[in-house]
Amino acid sequence: MEMRSVPEMFGENVFDDRVMRAVLTDDVYQSLKKTIDEGAKLDSSVADQVASAMRDWAVSKGATHFTHWFQPLTGVTAEKHDSFIEPSPDGGVIMAFSGKNLIQGEPDASSFPTGGIRATFEARGYTAWDPTSYAFIKDKTLCIPTAFCSYTGEALDKKTPLLRSMEALNKQALRILKLFGNDTAKYVHTSVGPEQEYFLITKEMYDKRPDIKYTGRTLFGAKAPKGQEMDDHYFGVIKPKVQEFMNDLNQELWKLGILAKTEHNEVAPAQHELAPIYSSTNIATDQNQLMMEMMQKVAARHGLVCLLHEKPFAGVNGSGKHNNWSMSTDTGINLLSPGATPYENAQFLLFLCAVIKAVDDYQDLLRLAVATAGNDHRLGANEAPPAIISIFLGDELSAILDAIENDTPYAGAEKKIMKLGVDVLPRFARDTTDRNRTSPFAFTGNKFEFRSLGSSNSIACANMMLNAAVAESLKIYADRLENAEDFETALHDMIKKTIKDHKRILFNGNGYDEAWVKEATEVRGLANYPTTPDCMPHLLDEKNVTMLTSHKVFTEAELKSRVDIMLDNYCKQVLIEANTMLEMSRRMILPSIECYENKLAGSVAAKKAVASVACSYESDVITKLSDLADKVYAGANDLEKAVSDTGSASDVITESYAIRDNVIPAMNAIRQAADEAETYVSKECWPLPSYGDLLFSVK
Ligand code: ADP
Ligand code: MG
Repeated sequence: MEMRSVPEMFGENVFDDRVMRAVLTDDVYQSLKKTIDEGAKLDSSVADQVASAMRDWAVSKGATHFTHWFQPLTGVTAEKHDSFIEPSPDGGVIMAFSGKNLIQGEPDASSFPTGGIRATFEARGYTAWDPTSYAFIKDKTLCIPTAFCSYTGEALDKKTPLLRSMEALNKQALRILKLFGNDTAKYVHTSVGPEQEYFLITKEMYDKRPDIKYTGRTLFGAKAPKGQEMDDHYFGVIKPKVQEFMNDLNQELWKLGILAKTEHNEVAPAQHELAPIYSSTNIATDQNQLMMEMMQKVAARHGLVCLLHEKPFAGVNGSGKHNNWSMSTDTGINLLSPGATPYENAQFLLFLCAVIKAVDDYQDLLRLAVATAGNDHRLGANEAPPAIISIFLGDELSAILDAIENDTPYAGAEKKIMKLGVDVLPRFARDTTDRNRTSPFAFTGNKFEFRSLGSSNSIACANMMLNAAVAESLKIYADRLENAEDFETALHDMIKKTIKDHKRILFNGNGYDEAWVKEATEVRGLANYPTTPDCMPHLLDEKNVTMLTSHKVFTEAELKSRVDIMLDNYCKQVLIEANTMLEMSRRMILPSIECYENKLAGSVAAKKAVASVACSYESDVITKLSDLADKVYAGANDLEKAVSDTGSASDVITESYAIRDNVIPAMNAIRQAADEAETYVSKECWPLPSYGDLLFSVK
């Protein structure tokens, strides 16, 4: 463990503002800063100077390679390393890195998913430097955050649409701010603080579980005698091995300039959480990817494995990622913070309404942005927010909106009917008392917390949809207000109308309640898409395509390719699970049952040779196990057929339905029989560590 202070080590591997200021000439620094803050184009001589300063800095820190670091649609990050070396005439080498190397790269990208955007003969894509996210050093390599596009300009990654969505929101939010007389704000950006959940198990246990190795989750496993029922793990004392891991991880993250802040035990045994302090969405997204990578690397140093899967264990909570989101100006005003004056509060209410409208109009986009095979296990089970999207506002804000909608007095407003934008709109305190953990989208005082995200997924998808949808609400508002004869009346009417039209999305009750599903779908007409195949095709619904293309967040071709890629990822992931299950059933589970049956049968024969005894234990268990083994055997045959049938699907949507309707149920049937068998077979005959071994393995 290092003895240096945290401020000393913080950001030491990052080419951040402090370094830029120190190593760049004033002119170069100013023009780079303009590029970072305002998106101004960087001229090539400046790029050369930035590159050479970056190289000197990186080499002085021991770096030998550089890479364009990007986020293809596989969901993980990609990097191809090049060393800085170039031959020099004297037979030696120099360390070279040009502006061109910095700005653009050409990975051989033919194997990344493109959903048909590129034919393989024109497989080249290119990476383009994103100067708004700082370069950093990892494993002796200078990593340059980049966007990844095809030569025809289509985005092949998650960063490009995210940056576009931030720009769309910026543009529309500035229009609104102007209407409220704010001419000083130069830009509005969205911020995110993602709370990351994960599990830790020992490497020793991991090595014995092919299912975790191949799929990230257990496909078999009878419940342990103890799970999370005592609530003794949540916020409990952190075990020494885990604390050592967390300390080491924090240091690595701090060196990378990541503001690792809060750590605690989560609900399930072996489950933990780490939250950084929030930052600009683009940076938060990059850093969350980096954080997940570091979690796995640091765990390995401690003889542990970090599981980021959404549902590693049946029967205890899975892992998610709470996406705390807000909008603020470059001058530091949080637009989701209730203000000190009525006028500020009117502006706050307008931004609040923009979010309410956005979430209602684009429920489907928010749902599908978090859809993966892994996250399907959480949404809809009573541990994570339901698949139905709704908003929690809390009592006070709900009462204010009610009063505005109905022109009735609000208690806090001295019993006067409120008209927005004038002096009677009440001052109200930030209400941070959010105890409703069942809501997918909760207002928490000065930000919204979108809770449906899966633990392993990039937060880019959720945020690009959220930003785009809010940009659309703001655009509609700005169009209307810019042409209004009387601003205050128009504002008042528009807020009132938003509340009337969209109050169906507001729900402060228990999202786990069966009655809510009924009310949400039958009375309120909210969308309920329990699985990935249910929601993903809606990306191409006309209203969604129109909105996303009009704000230039996606092109239509990009949207089509994304549906294909996301569904293809879903199919592949489940098929890997199915094949793993087949192999484990036939080569581990069935032989273990057989082995124990033989043992029992041998014991019966031995006993009967010396005495006339009933041997009812042995014969009952043999009968039971024999029946369960037949079920596993038949189930494996069914699963094999279901898997092979998916091969004849004519397109990926049909394939995803076949997987949802045939493959997954066949997997569940095998598991049920195998898990029951586990409870009868002796520990020595069972080759897999039990749930108890896995969940309580870290001391
Ligand atoms: P909890 O949800 O556990 O009560 P907090 O609400 O304080 O904890 O913070 C959770 C996350 O929200 C942290 O990452 C924090 O930095 C982030 N956060 C706090 N304020 C904002 C904000 N205005 N915008 C975005 N994220 C924020
Ligand atoms: Mg929180």
